[in-house]
Amino acid sequence: MKIAFVSSEIYPFAKTGGLADVAYSLPKALSHHGLEVISMMPLYKTVDREKHGIVETNLEIDVHLPEKTYTFKIYKTKRDVEHFFFYNEELFDRDYLYGTPEGDYPDNHIRFGAFSYAVLEFFRKTGFYPDVIHTNDWQTALIPVLIKDKYKLDIKTVHTIHNIAYQGVFDKDVINQLGLGWHLFNMEALEFYGKVNFLKGGIVFSDAVTTVSPTYAREICTPEYGFGLDGILRAHCHKLYGILNGIDYDVWNPETDPYIYVNYNETSLEKKEKNKQRFLDEYGLADVEKPLFIFIGRFAKQKGIDIIQQSITEMASMNANFSILGSGDKAYNDFFNSIKNRFPNIFVEVGYDEPLSRKMYASADFLLMPSIYEPCGLNQMIAMRYGTLVVARKTGGLADTVIDIDLPAGYGILFEHPTKMDFLRAINRAKELYKNRKKFERLREFVMSLDFSWDASASKYIRLYEEVKFGFPKGV
Ligand code: ADP
Repeated sequence: MKIAFVSSEIYPFAKTGGLADVAYSLPKALSHHGLEVISMMPLYKTVDREKHGIVETNLEIDVHLPEKTYTFKIYKTKRDVEHFFFYNEELFDRDYLYGTPEGDYPDNHIRFGAFSYAVLEFFRKTGFYPDVIHTNDWQTALIPVLIKDKYKLDIKTVHTIHNIAYQGVFDKDVINQLGLGWHLFNMEALEFYGKVNFLKGGIVFSDAVTTVSPTYAREICTPEYGFGLDGILRAHCHKLYGILNGIDYDVWNPETDPYIYVNYNETSLEKKEKNKQRFLDEYGLADVEKPLFIFIGRFAKQKGIDIIQQSITEMASMNANFSILGSGDKAYNDFFNSIKNRFPNIFVEVGYDEPLSRKMYASADFLLMPSIYEPCGLNQMIAMRYGTLVVARKTGGLADTVIDIDLPAGYGILFEHPTKMDFLRAINRAKELYKNRKKFERLREFVMSLDFSWDASASKYIRLYEEVKFGFPKGV
């Protein structure tokens, strides 16, 4: 089976979030299962061509939009699978992927609309027609629309929603600018409150829609989590699937991680304690006998960062250490910078720092994830791989990967409401668990033995591809 995987970002070439990790790991896992996979993305200015061995091909593709023709030069490299890069200087030779800190680029609809056409022209020009094209998020959501409505190709389409808050909503003039045809401007297709919604097009025109956890698949069909698309998702729920992301077990491995102080595995957890001691020493925290709680993530409302901000005074007076790493919205950055070095038991670093994040996963007793919503979440899986127990809000992928210790076979702590009260109560439950040394150590070993690798999820995607291609229901 031939798969074309299209994403606006792929690790390690370009990354702004979890999408890039998935866009690298899933095609790699699929190819290990014997599928023929190519992946495709725009070639941004920030991509280091030399470092990644990205070379020019002699292929050029013209995309004729009503107001202008855009020519894309095709580049490629091989890293587990073959990656094709689409380069157009005017559209993609910019400092950022989607916009500057001041806001989104105003021509994002042209940028990703033209890229979507270019992907289909690539098939026409090379004769490589995949069985299934797998598209991701709003940036590539027009591809299923073009396949069904314009090109009328016999290629099946699977579209994955990584975060439904981002939909690609533009003025209705886009219909003209992208030569889409006004018949698509209706409530059953691209129209969304008088505008054009790319993601809605992906949902309506794909053969299957997936999102990154079973619980999030159910949640986005409700007004609370659907960001206005819950109605259209309910109408298309027969083709909606929730498939958990995995983490790359080669990239995240405490036995080989070069950034942590001492490598360890589930049979040498005393070495995790050594990591903790060295971490406390390096970052100015004391008392190794106290539990160490960490938070790593974007400072955004979604991640429950307000709850942490509101709880800082209580956390400062607790018999526990905290380490917070992240960056994001300016107001949160300012707040966390202002409390740097203020409390002896709270270490704060505002920024993006992968080596530090790895030291934190290796050293911590508990990871905090008070998310308001969480499509899948990678942090909690990484933490457990490093023997760190998870304290999380029961939502989305967190509800699918963590079982509360009060339930049979439970191994983490979940709380129901995204409130300061529930959050602090959950921390106190973790502190109680920490005192029960035997149970705590048993659970640590247990979470390290859980399997969050891509293997199981890749098999589910393959069954889904077969289902959309051959039409026999196999159940995902
Ligand atoms: P998102 O919603 O941001 O995509 P995920 O949980 O899916 O969240 O992925 C977050 C990834 O980014 C994890 O690998 C996490 O370790 C990493 N990460 C997030 N913030 C930081 C940071 N400030 N420094 C280092 N790594 C970070």
